[in-house]
Amino acid sequence: MSQALAEIRARIAAAEARAERPAGSVTLVAVSKTQPWDHIAPVLDVGQKVFGENRVQEAMERWGPHRQGLELRLIGPLQTNKAREAVGFFDVIETLDREKLARVLAEEVQRAGKAPRLYVQVNVGQETQKAGVAPGDADSFIGACRTTYGLTIEGLMCIPPFDQDPAPHFAQLASIAERNGLDKLSMGMSDDFEIAIAQGATSVRVGSALFGSRVYS
Ligand SMILES: *Cc1c(COP(=O)(O)O)cnc(C)c1O
Repeated sequence: MSQALAEIRARIAAAEARAERPAGSVTLVAVSKTQPWDHIAPVLDVGQKVFGENRVQEAMERWGPHRQGLELRLIGPLQTNKAREAVGFFDVIETLDREKLARVLAEEVQRAGKAPRLYVQVNVGQETQKAGVAPGDADSFIGACRTTYGLTIEGLMCIPPFDQDPAPHFAQLASIAERNGLDKLSMGMSDDFEIAIAQGATSVRVGSALFGSRVYS
């Protein structure tokens, strides 16, 4: 696993250079969801600090004892009834995608006196089974998050359709971000992170290329 980590880091560095972007401008989010601890420990041991999880409960159980010094990101859908735990636990929530969630997150941020960094998820492929605001609704949703709910939005996140060329979808996310004054883009996974970096990704979410195939029980 630590060998795979070195390879992914080298590929990220090469993609940054090809895009004429500064070295280190792309954050690697190691997506550890469903992975057994013996796949994760070697990656932790060689200094990886940023991890992505898609379930609140699973993340808290797994990472609770190892929380210190790490950055944990929620990259899976968030139910409003888990918002309090998510605000308490995660450094970053990447899946803000509806007004009800914005309202509940705003309440929980008030209550907790601390706010996770927030990304709005955009459903760039307009897929019915996928979460995220429609591209055409993104500007007004970001505006509502800011003005109605008083939330600070750090950036945008997307998961393009797996059976299409991701580049135009990444470009679309970048243009929505630009016109809304956002400079952080969470896009790109194991199969397409180099393409995402070429399109301006500031963080890439890599799971299986790093840890091996996921095991679902
Ligand atoms: C699982 C997951 C990833 C990682 O996918 P890989 O193809 O294994 O790299 C990235 N982003 C999200 C939102 C995920 O759910």
